[in-house]
Amino acid sequence: MNTPIVYLKGVGPIKATVLQSELQVNTFEDLLEFYPFRYIDRSQFYKIKDLQQNTAEVQLVGKIISFNSIDQNRGSRLVAKFSDGSSLMDLVWFKGAKWIKANLKINEPYVAFGKLNWFNGIASMPHPDLELLSEYKKGVQSKMQPIYASSEKLMAKGLNNRTFIKLVKQVFTDGVPIQETLSDELLNDLHLISKKEALFNIHFPINQELLSKAQNRLKFEEFFFIQLQLLRQKINHKKKFKGFIFDRVGENFTDFYNNYLPFDLTDAQKKVIKEIRKDLATGAQMNRLLQGDVGSGKTIVAVLTILLAIDNGFQTAFIAPTEILAKQHYNAVKELLASLPISVSLLTGSTKTKERTIIFNDLKEGNLSILIGTHAVLEDKVIFKNLGFAIIDEQHRFGVAQRSKMWLKNTIPPHILVMTATPIPRTLAMSVYGDLDISVIDELPPGRKSVKTAHRFDSNRLKVFKFLKEEIAKGHQIYVVYPLIQESEQMDYKDLMDGYESLSRYFQMPEYQISIMHGKMKPEAKDYEMQRFVKGETNIMVATTVIEVGVNIPNASVMVIESAERFGLSQLHQLRGRVGRGNTQSYCVLMSGNKLSDDAKVRLKTMVATSDGFDIAEVDLKLRGPGNLMGTQQSGVLNLKIADIVKDASLLKLSRQKAMEILKNDLDLMQPKNRFIKTAYSAKIKNATLWSNIS
Ligand code: ADP
Ligand code: MG
Repeated sequence: MNTPIVYLKGVGPIKATVLQSELQVNTFEDLLEFYPFRYIDRSQFYKIKDLQQNTAEVQLVGKIISFNSIDQNRGSRLVAKFSDGSSLMDLVWFKGAKWIKANLKINEPYVAFGKLNWFNGIASMPHPDLELLSEYKKGVQSKMQPIYASSEKLMAKGLNNRTFIKLVKQVFTDGVPIQETLSDELLNDLHLISKKEALFNIHFPINQELLSKAQNRLKFEEFFFIQLQLLRQKINHKKKFKGFIFDRVGENFTDFYNNYLPFDLTDAQKKVIKEIRKDLATGAQMNRLLQGDVGSGKTIVAVLTILLAIDNGFQTAFIAPTEILAKQHYNAVKELLASLPISVSLLTGSTKTKERTIIFNDLKEGNLSILIGTHAVLEDKVIFKNLGFAIIDEQHRFGVAQRSKMWLKNTIPPHILVMTATPIPRTLAMSVYGDLDISVIDELPPGRKSVKTAHRFDSNRLKVFKFLKEEIAKGHQIYVVYPLIQESEQMDYKDLMDGYESLSRYFQMPEYQISIMHGKMKPEAKDYEMQRFVKGETNIMVATTVIEVGVNIPNASVMVIESAERFGLSQLHQLRGRVGRGNTQSYCVLMSGNKLSDDAKVRLKTMVATSDGFDIAEVDLKLRGPGNLMGTQQSGVLNLKIADIVKDASLLKLSRQKAMEILKNDLDLMQPKNRFIKTAYSAKIKNATLWSNIS
């Protein structure tokens, strides 16, 4: 199976090169793992007279009676009269006439297969797939024909579907040994078919049932080895890296908890804090992902954990993806801890040198307990006396590399808490963050009114404006957000400015004050406008998505999203999360034109129907697929060959559970019964491309 593909009969150096560059098919095994993406039924034969406007693929038996070349000003074509005894039809070629005339035999029975064209009630078959009936009878065991993905480059080198079928068959006819990769135990317990049977039937299914079994087995296997890798990584990591033990519940924690906690914790918050405290007592390094919808109250969880760190003699680093967010965290933490003797500083790109020096010094001396900031905190110059805990907000903007940078900031890596407000469906989290433990705050603080959401067409804009006036009259503030998408940046700014002007005409000064904020403004100007809005000096904030993440203005009661059809679901959800932070009823208005794609309709409908971030994430996953959902963070998990995180979620769970069971008793896969698993696993690890990017 490891034989280079160039040695397969029918593959010369040229085809081998294309197979490698286009499909990463380097070996026989790779070729067998190039699975068909669909199958067509070739069990049925049609008669020409019965065809009736059928435009799907059909299969016929007949003879070519004659060839006729037709030259037209639009190009030439070759037409063959094809007879099945009952009637006649045309087979047509627009290319390769010479070769076809020389190679196809007149008056010999052929099996013709292809799609039909209809013109004036007469069928013809362009570029049919033709095989002599005698050959066809010899060759086919399977009545379902595999269809392989194709590309122009592949076709240009003769790697069309027929060739693929031939090549894959060749591997089987050559009798290349196919090793089992799972244990007997797994095969028996889960009623899986053997690897060999699965590979054969995925290409040439004997029947539908075997095809399903083959798919099931291969999907399970694909998930299983990924989970095996992720879980081993996690277990080994826990064994290898010691973690600080925070076993003291000290003065600061107790004092804060008893005297300064501004509200009762929700059950979900309590549950998560318990999970974290358990981690901190084990002596292993915590790597935990904290998921919680916008407004679910992650900050207080972070703060309580910080206090544990401080009471045990450790410093904390808290990083956020943007300066605005870092500042907001800084203000929130400072306010919460105002009555305690704890020092907090903010470090961002715009921190002045003088202040920076003081911060660096205090950190090194241990006079500073909490450092909050942006990427700046990760820099090598930032040296802690005793960092014990690191919080990373908004995981998806930081790479794995940055997370591991944190690990190096102390002799023993600090505990890590990754917080994200973009809910990730469980199945996806299980795969992409399979090496992290996951906590979820699945409950909003009490009294929170859910944001009423409506979809309005642009033609109803005036009604929406009228509604905004009513809200402003109640003393509330309003966001109006415009999309900003890189490629069409100029257009987007024009939209924003046009929108701003039309708002200014409707909401006139001095009664109404409007702020504007966009990415082309200087940071100071942005800050100034933001501050005006925060202080309530302006009623409306017109902005591009720069306000997307994190800002907290409880008095804002309406979020108007312009061209809402252009936003992704998670972005819409994030934006909506900017309102509904106070006690008043809040609203989200999704504005759009009348022409909407099917996906856009689903997105807008979903937003109107639910405010549950996890439900929204599930829909998003279905619409966009895992690769897009995770953005640039491409990981091996997302390049699945056959399994699908959404459709095969139950197999994913099963594979994780089985992998866990096996590793529990046999971490290094040393037991004889797991030897096939071990061999396959080692080969995959060596073939590290698939694995290297897993976070
Ligand atoms: P997020 O998870 O989005 O970071 P925050 O931590 O900013 O959420 O909390 C959102 C708001 O909810 C804050 O104003 C916070 O004070 C408040 N809050 C958090 N937890 C509770 C609670 N248990 N009871 C009442 N209010 C809470
Ligand atoms: Mg937050």
